[in-house]
Amino acid sequence: MKFRTLKGLQDILPPDIAVWQHIESTAKHIFKNYGYQEIRLPIMESTDVFTRSIGETSDIVEKEMYTFEDKGGRSVTLRPEGTASFVRAYVQHHIYNNPAPQKFFYTGPMFRYERPQAFRFRQFYQIGVEAMGIDDPKLDAEIISMLSRLLSGIGLEGLDVQITSIGCKKCRPDYRAALKNFLKEKLDSFCSDCKRRYDLNPLRILDCKVPGCIESRKGSPPVIDYLCDECDIHFEGLKKNLAELNVPHTVNPSLVRGLDYYTKTAFEVTSENLGSQSAVAAGGRYDSMVDEFGGPPTPGIGFAMGMERIIPLVSEGPEIFLCPLGEEAAEKALLLTEQLRSEGLWAEMNYDAASLRSQMRKANKIGAKKVVVIGDDEIKNNKAVIKNMLDREEVTINLNVSEFIKIIQNNNASPPLKKGD
Ligand code: ATP
Ligand code: MG
Repeated sequence: MKFRTLKGLQDILPPDIAVWQHIESTAKHIFKNYGYQEIRLPIMESTDVFTRSIGETSDIVEKEMYTFEDKGGRSVTLRPEGTASFVRAYVQHHIYNNPAPQKFFYTGPMFRYERPQAFRFRQFYQIGVEAMGIDDPKLDAEIISMLSRLLSGIGLEGLDVQITSIGCKKCRPDYRAALKNFLKEKLDSFCSDCKRRYDLNPLRILDCKVPGCIESRKGSPPVIDYLCDECDIHFEGLKKNLAELNVPHTVNPSLVRGLDYYTKTAFEVTSENLGSQSAVAAGGRYDSMVDEFGGPPTPGIGFAMGMERIIPLVSEGPEIFLCPLGEEAAEKALLLTEQLRSEGLWAEMNYDAASLRSQMRKANKIGAKKVVVIGDDEIKNNKAVIKNMLDREEVTINLNVSEFIKIIQNNNASPPLKKGD
């Protein structure tokens, strides 16, 4: 065929579209109960809307934006995220004049020129919310509670809600100084981007994905040790409110966000089933942004979740599909499948002498989360490779039921994704 989708872009077709619609309608239903109204924004903005707010030294602005000149010679950018456009609209239409909190949600495509990988696309869809005008941590707790309710309403399990505070304009200079002091001696071991960030915006070094930089910044002081009184009280309030609302969460002091505009609360929800692209949703407070966009000082908080990372987690299918090759393997598979079922797991096997290729196709079609191939070698060595159909990672285990259960129940055991397409 002559034409194909661009790298990192995909068509969304039936029957998958039904899952997309299910998630969107669940989200809309929950948002309505919390008073969020839909807002539809252009997918293109003047480039400054993003560079100024997301930050000149962020990965998004430095490397990932689809920026071009239109026929009128303006620099325009396909939106890499929703909040900057939202705040632009909030200020442009004087929405701050309405009673606070003003609550909005949006859905739609975002664009980032990233290296495509499993669960990482160049056009991806987000559902996001923004709540404006209230600086009380009760709103932070409410929004995190809503997100948890939404994700469990969609049917997601094995999620971890991580929270932290990254301070504000008042405490940041102290933290910046402490961090620079810590990094000073080691600066040689950082990448050239980080060396540049050291003077421009040292906090961005904490978000660098280069393995050497991750290693070198180990032991750096956490922001939460440098919060000013106001930020500290806010964070304590958030933790108390989350506990009162019974929202399970973990405090992760090393959580950093890729965007500069956040203040105080930052959070991320991760799934243990997505390999290294584990963030399904993320957000935080941005109390200085409206001001910086020329509106009256107005606090705000929001989050965005990534549809492509949620879809694979909701598909219904067996925990494991066994692909035997040969009669002896088929008998072994029959026994193992029964043993797994008696442990309360949904296990399926292939019953005919189909080729490995067609067995794998079948596993894919019925939505199996893991697949294991059992042939003569596997039986002889009593070892087999389990493949995670979500992130395509493979792990070798012994051919016995307890090892199968361990790997099914503990997806963290799989090593991180390899780089590349
Ligand atoms: P990551 O750490 O995975 O790069 P991020 O911090 O860049 O994520 P945000 O800008 O906070 O992500 O966006 C919110 C959510 O949007 C993420 O949690 C993720 O679910 C989704 N998302 C971000 N980038 C992509 C992408 N390139 N492809 C698919 N989903 C994405
Ligand atoms: Mg990113």
